[in-house]
Amino acid sequence: MSDELAIIGGPKAVTLEDDYVFSWPIITEEDEKAALEVLRAGTMSDTGITKLFEEEFADWQGSAYTLGFSSGTASLLGAMYGVGVGVGDEVIAPSVTYWAAVLPCLSLGATPVFADIQPDSLCIDPESFEEHISEHTKAVVVVHNYGHPADMDEIAEIAHAHDIAVIEDVSHAHGGLYKGRKLGTIGDVGAMSLMSRKSFPVGEGGILATDDREIYERAVAFGHYTRHGEDLERDELAQFGGLPFGGQKHRMHQISAAVGRVQLKHYDDRMAEIQEAMGYFWELLDDVSGISIHHPEHEDSTMGGWYSPKGLYDAEKLDGLSVERFAEAVTAEGSTCLPGCNYALHTHPLLQNADVYGHGKPTRIANAHRDVRESEGDLPVAEGIQEHCFTIPWFKRYEPEVIEQHADAYRKVVEHRHELLDTGGEPAAATRVND
Ligand SMILES: *Cc1c(COP(=O)(O)O)cnc(C)c1O
Repeated sequence: MSDELAIIGGPKAVTLEDDYVFSWPIITEEDEKAALEVLRAGTMSDTGITKLFEEEFADWQGSAYTLGFSSGTASLLGAMYGVGVGVGDEVIAPSVTYWAAVLPCLSLGATPVFADIQPDSLCIDPESFEEHISEHTKAVVVVHNYGHPADMDEIAEIAHAHDIAVIEDVSHAHGGLYKGRKLGTIGDVGAMSLMSRKSFPVGEGGILATDDREIYERAVAFGHYTRHGEDLERDELAQFGGLPFGGQKHRMHQISAAVGRVQLKHYDDRMAEIQEAMGYFWELLDDVSGISIHHPEHEDSTMGGWYSPKGLYDAEKLDGLSVERFAEAVTAEGSTCLPGCNYALHTHPLLQNADVYGHGKPTRIANAHRDVRESEGDLPVAEGIQEHCFTIPWFKRYEPEVIEQHADAYRKVVEHRHELLDTGGEPAAATRVND
């Protein structure tokens, strides 16, 4: 590859039409028909189709109970209430993730506590999790970040020793495996988004999965009042049945449920094709220094549908080239590359000073037994992670020629990096992504 970089006037590495390879979600006549049936029958707000979807999803997931939700955010709130999170409790979560993994606990009067992440998995660091435990810790939310399974053995052991509930946020990793076990079935409860951009896309929606009847019933009690009659067996819940405990309505839209039933039928095949495509992309880049795969080492652990896939970046091996400049050059080649990933949550003003509910003090610690707010520098990996990762193309179809061109774009920029260092120029401002 002797061509000049596209960013300084050379030809682009990616020339093939690639819409088909990236188009998502995959919607066929089968989805359209399912959605139309709901519309024509006027059953958008019922629960019959949602229950069928829940049963099928439970079978596929391998969980005893599943509950459909209006969003992934609502399913996480349901899971938190399900495990008993309440006023004054602390909930530990990784600082680098989508906010809905933890912010819902604020509306239960609980306090989010942030742990650092691991630089290779980008998931919660078990050691940091352990360091942040106090006598008030009620739950930990584990996010399998960008498809990568978190270190569940260590997390479960620590959580068990301290009697802490484990909530798995599977919004990035539907169908992924940790040492052969399906993500979302290892902790006490799994909750996940099913919105259209996730790897299991049904439209706005979420689902909770658990083997624990009590967690299930508490989630029903909190936001699914129309199901109280049939689902609440426990007296302590049933006696208040008929009104939602949380004053919330979390019911899933039935067009989402109907589309979900169709998507589920095809999900394993689509996930396998994504795996094949992403695996091929990284195989082509195996010998390229400075950029490496974000993937678990254990042979029975997988990346599910590779949601918003990342690469790991080592500027030192690339003569100090910044990830921003690198990403700019790859993008100029016609491929996709965004520097960084989600920003650390712990230093955001909402989690430092905002008084959302009028407590007369910051909401985050309104009911807390101690001031848990972090300062800059407390979670060094989370705070510095923007320099060490980037978003790569998310191939949904295995089209070798297209994948080869994208891999060529990455290889070309690494091999020609001296041209970039020579031309200097200010690095572009990092693009803020939030997924
Ligand atoms: C998308 C997402 C959610 C929230 O799901 P919605 O369906 O958008 O409400 C929660 N957690 C993570 C990690 C997510 O990426």
